[in-house]
Amino acid sequence: MEDSLAREVADLKSNLINVNFGLAHTCRGNPIVEQKRIDITARLELKEKLLLLKKQEEERQKKLEQEKIIQDFMNKPFVNLSEDKTYFTISVSGVEFLFDNEKEEIERLSVLSNIRNLDINEVGYSIFKPILLRIGSIGSLNINDGGYLCSWDYPIHTELKLIERKKLSEDLGCDLGDIHVHHIDLNQKNNRKKNLEVLHKDNHAKRHGFPSWDALQLWRAENLD
Ligand SMILES: [Zn+2]
Repeated sequence: MEDSLAREVADLKSNLINVNFGLAHTCRGNPIVEQKRIDITARLELKEKLLLLKKQEEERQKKLEQEKIIQDFMNKPFVNLSEDKTYFTISVSGVEFLFDNEKEEIERLSVLSNIRNLDINEVGYSIFKPILLRIGSIGSLNINDGGYLCSWDYPIHTELKLIERKKLSEDLGCDLGDIHVHHIDLNQKNNRKKNLEVLHKDNHAKRHGFPSWDALQLWRAENLD
């Protein structure tokens, strides 16, 4: 839609240029043209002020609209507390992931703080919106190639057990990366604490029927693409 106020300002500006040109040349000293210049200048000032106010109001409305969209988005029930409140679920790509509902764990979950503090500016939202509409994933949440729920690059089940993992790695004197978290029921989507077992990678391999992690890796290399 054509902005009539903006067009009026543009017209007044070009009128003023014409009048000034006239006053500098053929109409020099002409009191009628001089008065015209004064009138146009006053009118232009007024219209420019109105235009500025209009733009500010539009800006404000746009921001309110944006905030409402984000608020609606934040209120989307992607985190569902179960009836008995012993666990909660997060839906990503229509897949529900189970978590234990223990306060300190929820607070520690970087995933939740990332969700709550999502900094969605206009650009971010325009990028994010189609993804949200398409698969319903949230902010930093994604599913990695292995099928695990991740916040950014961090698999949530390993994040949930970070303290235990650190302790075991210190006890065994090995890298934190060698301490794995196994899904006891073999369901990667069930991150309830009682389903997560912290193990050295060799013991983890044993849970999957291999004598060692290296043996498991070798089998993978030979059998999976
Ligand atoms: Zn495992």
